[in-house]
Formats: sequence, C-alpha cells, structure tokens
Amino acid sequence: MSGDCDDLGRLAHDLARRRTLALERRRRVVDGACVPHVRVDGRPLLAFASNDYLGLAAHPRVALAASEAALRYGVGAGASHLISGHSALHEALERRLAQWTGLPRALTFSAGYMANAAVLSVLAQRHGEIFADRLNHASLNDAARLARARLRRYAHGDLAQLQRLLAGSRAAYKIVATDAVFSMDGDIAPLPELLSLCERYDAWLYVDDAHGFGVLGEGKGALAHFRLASPRIVYMATLGKAAGVAGAFVAGVEEVIETLLQQAHAYVYTTAQPPLLAAALLAALDVMEQEPQRRAMLWRLVGFLRAQARPRRGTFLASATPIQPLLLGDAATALDVAEQLWQRGLWVPAIRPPTVPQGTARLRISLSAAHSEADVLALCEALNEVA
Ligand SMILES: *Cc1c(COP(=O)(O)O)cnc(C)c1O
Repeated sequence: MSGDCDDLGRLAHDLARRRTLALERRRRVVDGACVPHVRVDGRPLLAFASNDYLGLAAHPRVALAASEAALRYGVGAGASHLISGHSALHEALERRLAQWTGLPRALTFSAGYMANAAVLSVLAQRHGEIFADRLNHASLNDAARLARARLRRYAHGDLAQLQRLLAGSRAAYKIVATDAVFSMDGDIAPLPELLSLCERYDAWLYVDDAHGFGVLGEGKGALAHFRLASPRIVYMATLGKAAGVAGAFVAGVEEVIETLLQQAHAYVYTTAQPPLLAAALLAALDVMEQEPQRRAMLWRLVGFLRAQARPRRGTFLASATPIQPLLLGDAATALDVAEQLWQRGLWVPAIRPPTVPQGTARLRISLSAAHSEADVLALCEALNEVA
C-alpha cells in the first residue's frame, strides 16, 4: 500500500501547486438555463462566458423540439450508429447539415473532441504528418497524438514557416489542421492562403469551425465567409456552440465521409447521440435560417463593445468576432480582474495556461445575440473602472 500512498501524495502536491500558481480551475454551479442573466449560488450575475453566440441554448422552439422528440423517440439511441442507433432524425440532420454548408455529405458525432480524433486518425493513417497552428484547440493536438501521426506545429498564422515544413515533408499523407476562428483569440485563420499551400503541396486542409459555424458567412460558417470550396477541404463544426445544443459534424467529399463511417473508432465504437438532440438541432437550424436578426444583433454588439470599452487594465486583442479577449499577462492578474468583475455582478472567465501560452492569461469576453446593448454597456462601464 505504501506505493499507493506515494501516488496520492504526488497528486495532492500537484493540486496544491496549481493553486499556488493561480492555475486551479473552479466550477460555478449555475441554477437555470444558459442565458446572459444567470443565478449562481442564488446570486444574480450577468454572464459573458458561454459560446451560445446566437442565444439558441434556451430557445423555446429548440427546447420544444427536443421534448416532443423525447416523447416520440424516447431518450437514448440504444446503440452505436452502425448497430441500431441511427434514427430517422440523425439521418435528416445529416442531410440538412450537408445542405446548409453546401458540402457533398455530412456525418454527425457526439462531440467535437471526438470528431477531431476521428478525422485526423483517418486522414493521417499513421504514416501521415499533421501541420498545426500553435494556437489550435487542444482537442486537435490530442487528436494528432491519437492518430499516431507526426505533429508539426507552426507559429500562429505563420504561412512562411508552414510552407517550409510542407516543402520539407516526405510524408505519404499531409494534413494542415487549423481552427477557423481561434477559440481563445477570436481571430480568423487565413483559410484561402492555407488552401493554396495545401494545393501546392498536396495536403488536406482540415478546418475546425467550432466558433465560426452559425456566426460567419451568414451562419454557414468560415468556408462561406471566404467563399471557399475544394475536395481537399474537410470541414468540422461543433453543434454545442452557436447551434446551442450538443455534438458536432464533419462534412466533405463522399470518400472521406464514408471512410469515417466505416473506420473511425470515435464514430464506430460509441453510442449514437440521443435522437432528441438531432430534433433540437433541426429546430435550431430553422431558427438560424429564419431569424437573421440574431446574427445582425451579434455583430452590432461586437462593434458596440469595441467602441465603448476603454479598459484601465489589459489590451483587447485584434478580434472581429464575438470572442473578445482582454489580454492581461500573468495568471494571477487575470484572476484578480475576473474576481473584481465578479464582485460587481459580472461573469467573465479568466483563461490561463495551459489553455493559452504562458504570459498571455486573459479575460475571454464572449458576446451573444441574447445580450442587450444595456448588458454590454454594463460590462464596458465595469471594465473601464476596474483597476
Ligand atoms: C469546443 C471546441 C471543440 C470541441 O467541441 P466539443 O463539441 O465541445 O467537444 C473543438 N474545437 C474547437 C476549436 C473548440 O472550440
């Protein structure tokens, strides 16, 4: 037993160290739906902390579609897609997503984390090389490791470095993987330039559009934003952010999608999402289509925040998306500013290493169409006062 005790001691030591370094994470227990005005421990707070960019997570039409589907289809899918878990609702959702993105075919996954694992494993085939922007989401890096492929990371947005790496690669399969909208920075990847490099060096371009889908390109996402189309693009978007529900999908040419369906462990060896979520997503897509005013409101609030905020602490990053990070530097400072805002009734998460590089801790302000101008004004006033 003494071995076990040593291991426990090590875990306790590491946990204590995290706390000392202001890196300990803490969950807040939210009582109620994901909306801007929430209650935490009975206390009202104005939150700028979700990825619910269009305010669909608590939309009555979406919730109603989920509850009606629960009564008709039950709650659990009962099995994986390839056994017996693939319902008519999943099928309809895949068709709708392919139509929505203008891509040949779509396949749904239970989470973006799993979709990334599936795609990189299938495209890299173990002998591949994956070229990744240094600020990509952690799930893409984990996916590359799971794929047992060689992972080469290039400096954020550094096309010249990427070109050198591609030119020097002798891998049988090459994949350039990038966030379309960088999740903690809010800037947009230079997808047209990345596609040109992929064409020149015969590589796949894998686009993780977790934060662009529903937001950019009239809601169609980052490819529509740039008017990009190519058989070498594999597109992924998550459905728990702007779409307000859960899960993810991959879209692209038939051969890629069918290979994922046949081979990807993260697709084959997992229970299908509850069909009621597919029903909720179909309703969410209806709202996205029929209520363009949500996107208009979101863009208006982005402009309003940038015009009104003159924070005494920190610098806004150059982001044109609803992700508006205020760079503060060290973790303790970010935590301190977040705490001062919390005391004023505002919830803005402090993002610290290892989620972001050392010395770049920040507040991640995220805007939603569910916010009002008065909400954003309240945030700006607090930011302008907090020292
Ligand atoms: C959130 C996120 C994911 C993971 O998606 P989940 O559906 O939450 O697992 C993947 N990539 C990026 C860029 C993300 O922001």
